[in-house]
Parts: sequence; C-alpha cells; structure tokens
Amino acid sequence: MSMRKIYGNDANLTLMQNMRKNQHIPHACLFYGEKGSGRKTLAEYFAMTVLCTGENVPCGTCKNCQKILHGVHPDLIPVAHSGKKQGFSVDTVREICRDAIVAPNDSDKKIYLFADCDNIGIPAQNTLLKLTEEPPEHVLLLFTATEKSAFLETMLSRMMQIAVRPCTPDECREALTQQHNISPSDADRAVRATSGENIGLAIEWLENPAMQELTRQAAELTGAVAERKQYEILRILSGYEKDRTQAETFLRLLMKQFRDACMIKYGSDFLTGCNFRSAEELSEVITISRAERLCHAVQSAYEALQASVSLKLVLASLGGNLLL
Ligand SMILES: [Zn+2]
Repeated sequence: MSMRKIYGNDANLTLMQNMRKNQHIPHACLFYGEKGSGRKTLAEYFAMTVLCTGENVPCGTCKNCQKILHGVHPDLIPVAHSGKKQGFSVDTVREICRDAIVAPNDSDKKIYLFADCDNIGIPAQNTLLKLTEEPPEHVLLLFTATEKSAFLETMLSRMMQIAVRPCTPDECREALTQQHNISPSDADRAVRATSGENIGLAIEWLENPAMQELTRQAAELTGAVAERKQYEILRILSGYEKDRTQAETFLRLLMKQFRDACMIKYGSDFLTGCNFRSAEELSEVITISRAERLCHAVQSAYEALQASVSLKLVLASLGGNLLL
C-alpha cells in the first residue's frame, strides 16, 4: 500500500519531519480541525515519521511505514471508544496507563492514538493526566478533535497543538479524482457544494444524501435570513432539534455562508460556503455590521452546543438572533 499525498498541510509536515530530525519528539500531540479535514491521517503520518527507519522520513516503504499504512503496526495502538457518545471509559484509560509502562514491540516508541476526542469526559482526562505529564520515555500520545476546547487546560498545557489546515478547492478536486477514483464531474459537484476545503466532507457529500440535504438547507436558510422570513428560519432550524451532530454540521455550513456574505461585502472573493448565490443575495440586503452579527450568532450557538447546552434552546435562541 502506498502513502497518500497529504494536502494543505505542508507546514505541518515540515514541522513533524524537523522534530524527528532534531530528535525533539513531544510526548503528546493534539491534531485539531474540522471533521473530514484529515486529522487522523495527519496523526498517522506523524506516527510514520517517528517510527520510519527509511532515509527520507516517512519513506512509506520500510517495514514500520508499511505496517502503519496497513493498520497493523503493534506499536501504533488505536484506543477504543466507549458508550453512545463515543467517549473513552476510565477503565480503558487505566488499562492504557498500565500498558504504557511495558516496552514497545517492534520499534523504540509506543504510540497511542485517541481519535475523535470531542466527547472525551473529564474523569477520563483526569485519569490520563499523569501519563500525559510524565510518560515513560518510549511513549507518544496522539489525540484528534474538532476543537481544542474538548480538553481541560491541564491536559492542553502538556500537549503540542497542531491545527489541521484546510486544502484548496483544486487540491480537493485532485484528491477526489486521483486518490478516491471519483469522476471529474462528481468531484466538481462535491467541491462546489462543500467549498472544497475539506476532502472528507466532499466525499461524505457524494456518498450521503443526508449531507446533500444539509447543504441545500444551509442555502435555503441563508435565503430566508436575507428575506427575513421568520417562519422559514424557525422551521428549518427546528428540523435539527433531535440530532446534535447534524446540528453541529449544519451550523458549520451556515457559519461559512454568513462569512461569505460578509466577505462579498468586503469585496473579497475568498469564499468557502456551500452556496454562492444565496450568500450573494444576503450580502446585497445587509450591512457589514449585520453580517458580522450573523456570523457571531452562529458561532455562539456552535460553542453552546459544544458546551452541551440544550439543543432545542440553542436553536430557538439562534432563530431569534438571526432576525436581529
Ligand atoms: Zn519508512
């Protein structure tokens, strides 16, 4: 299996290679960014960079790189999620702390990968604290999450934090056609509908009709805000009252739409939303300060969802704020 090209993160790749070259590997690293942006791919690339025995690290061909690419390296250990919210149980974390003392199998590092930590609970983090603070020399802890705020300050202060960068629409198109065998016309549709800066999101949009519905509704809501159609706004938002994950994705799409309306007003053509026409329509009827208020309202709603405020309450309050 060959190594996939990683898009949009050249600076991060160089940083990791330099850490390896200078033998300054941190004990704990957090890769944070949007779902679908390649957080886990980047974490695995880092694991390869650390364990690679080839010349140009990561070479992608040595025994360690190949085992990681095939998902069978005994020293890259994915930590199992638990429960409905996909957190990590205290028991699992305790087991990791015990296991971490044991020397690695095939290499000189033992790497634990805690993927999708958005719902990592406080008890699990408290149990991990000591290991993160003073791990055995051979241990490297990797975490991925959407927002840094998933972690306690005490944990964050012990991690190296790496922001996963978005790719460009051209890179997204290239990744879809060359790495995922998607036809150029489908790739084009997906890039246009999802802003093309998140490869995972573009793939999900193509595979999942529900995702296509989300982008359609984000455009519809943008139009309803432009026309101040109160009933429409509340109707669309209330459709997300039952599914927090979907609501979060929807708010992220909406944030980009309002941000685009703001950017169009500023005369910028750096747009990332899923529907240009409705963002343009909105930009024509609002002032810059209202555009900024809209962005702020969605951002606050998104943060409230992260902080586990009631979904119904957040959406109702957002509905009100979108009309201000
Ligand atoms: Zn290698």
